[in-house]
Amino acid sequence: MATAPMHLMEVKQLGVKFKTPDGLVSAVNGISFTLDRGETLGIVGESGSGKSQSVLAMMGLLATNGQATGQVLYLGQDLISMPKADLNRIRGNRVAMIFQDPMTSLNPYLTVERQMTEVLEFHKGMSRKDARVKAVQALDAVKMPEAARRIGMYPHEFSGGMRQRVMIAMALLCEPDVLIADEPTTALDVTVQAQILILMRELQRDFGTAIVMITHDLGVVAGLCDEVMVLYGGQVMEQANADAIFYRPSHPYTAGLLAAVPRLEGGDAPMLAIPGAPPNMAKLPAGCPFTERCAMALPKCGTERPPFAPAAHDAQVLRACHLGIDDVTRNLERLKMEQGARA
Ligand code: SF4
Repeated sequence: MATAPMHLMEVKQLGVKFKTPDGLVSAVNGISFTLDRGETLGIVGESGSGKSQSVLAMMGLLATNGQATGQVLYLGQDLISMPKADLNRIRGNRVAMIFQDPMTSLNPYLTVERQMTEVLEFHKGMSRKDARVKAVQALDAVKMPEAARRIGMYPHEFSGGMRQRVMIAMALLCEPDVLIADEPTTALDVTVQAQILILMRELQRDFGTAIVMITHDLGVVAGLCDEVMVLYGGQVMEQANADAIFYRPSHPYTAGLLAAVPRLEGGDAPMLAIPGAPPNMAKLPAGCPFTERCAMALPKCGTERPPFAPAAHDAQVLRACHLGIDDVTRNLERLKMEQGARA
């Protein structure tokens, strides 16, 4: 019997729980996806939706009171259950991460050169001299001006955009198979943001790296991602290819996020804000976590958890909602008209 081809990465029912003084808090509840070479998955949601905790769990970097469940298979090996020494050989080498704030991730006491050469000495067994040559090449690849001179500088001597380039260069030093980027452009102005995204696309093209991109910015998703997962309250609300998410969102939360994005071609069309704030993760409702903010909620939404299942209109779209897509679209139009009439 033929066996299914192995994915580069396969995440199965990943969960994250934290022990807190108020009891056990579930930050992530059963997310699953596959990733192959050259693909990009976007994980989208507001602050507190579980995006960052998901990827920290994948990298074995949860806080000490956190615990991950499920499986994170890299070429069939489970990163969650493997011994730490084995994980350290994969982490930063085959699976690398770009953090949100380079200033808190780079060591302020060490030059960029020392931080970069250390990675190559540890993972690749290179001499310091060879590691320096490779590190300068990596900085050149991320278009760092005067890389050979600047490599001797400390992190505080770089601008925010340059520090983010250093982080990307460090993450790509070992030419990883998977790059996890947690809001890599959040702290940057829009021009530098665009440069960094172009850079990531080029590096993906040149190295075939698979990318997991964590963001709350739907513009970033549109420009970079093949597949998108929308998280809310630590649960997946909708998961589909980027076109389906952008052109036919089937979940009220996804539709709400998209309706809240200003559009150049939108004219006087009102933007639809999602009222309220993200839920208290320690007190999630028994049903859909979006119930309290959902303008389309049904009486059963607060008590009955909608199944996360293929959509009736498209089996490639996975969604968790009691409403069908036609009802979601109709309700959204009605809400826009009501909001427009009030404006
Ligand atoms: Fe809204 Fe109910 Fe769908 Fe949740 S299940 S998104 S509350 S309609």
